[in-house]
Amino acid sequence: MKYHDTHFHLDLMPNPIEVVKQIEKSKIYTIAVTNSPEVFHYTESIAKNTKYIRPALGLHPELVGERYKEIKRFIELIDRTKYIGEIGLDNSDKPLSDYKKQIEVFEKIIASCADYEDKILTVHSRRAESDLLDILGNDFPGRVILHWYSGSIKNLEKAISRGYFISVNYQMTKSIKGQKIIDCIPSNQILLESDGPFISRGNNKFTPMMVNIVLDNLCVLKKSNNDELKNIILQNFYDLIRDK
Ligand SMILES: [Zn+2]
Repeated sequence: MKYHDTHFHLDLMPNPIEVVKQIEKSKIYTIAVTNSPEVFHYTESIAKNTKYIRPALGLHPELVGERYKEIKRFIELIDRTKYIGEIGLDNSDKPLSDYKKQIEVFEKIIASCADYEDKILTVHSRRAESDLLDILGNDFPGRVILHWYSGSIKNLEKAISRGYFISVNYQMTKSIKGQKIIDCIPSNQILLESDGPFISRGNNKFTPMMVNIVLDNLCVLKKSNNDELKNIILQNFYDLIRDK
């Protein structure tokens, strides 16, 4: 079974073309998230003719304040890919007016994605988990991945009961809070993410080629028979992309 990385900012790496080659050579399924519709074109173009890279259309919540008008472009492009991200809400250090715009944009994105059965979302939820779960609602028809979840266990349980996946990165496996969260996620709902280049290990920015480290750490934390757990987690990516 092949490795996967469901949240990687390919376009923000210093050498994206080189990384594309490495991903193809290493055969790692990669969801290449983008932070705005304009970047999506670039990622789509460098991922063209690749087997393992899936460009995702995004509008990052922390950029919505200044770029909310790009929602129009976002909706126009929504047919081009079934992968959507990075999207979501971030209420960590924004004025209320900014957060309100984020909610408006996120509602529009979710309403548009709900017109399809097969969208796969990678979602940012920092300090906004309750609002985010409310907007997604109980009946969202696509698949949802909560990326770098850092909220309450109660909201995590709600997300898990809805069948959402939680993508885990290196930083989460190293922090006490992250470990508590990992403890609560059933093995069949865990995915791997690098969140490169925002996470580093020593001097190295995380890339899809390093997700094996995340998987090894998860096995230690879950105190589980390595091969069995590894197979379950790697299988989860195939479940994520499987047709309904
Ligand atoms: Zn990200």
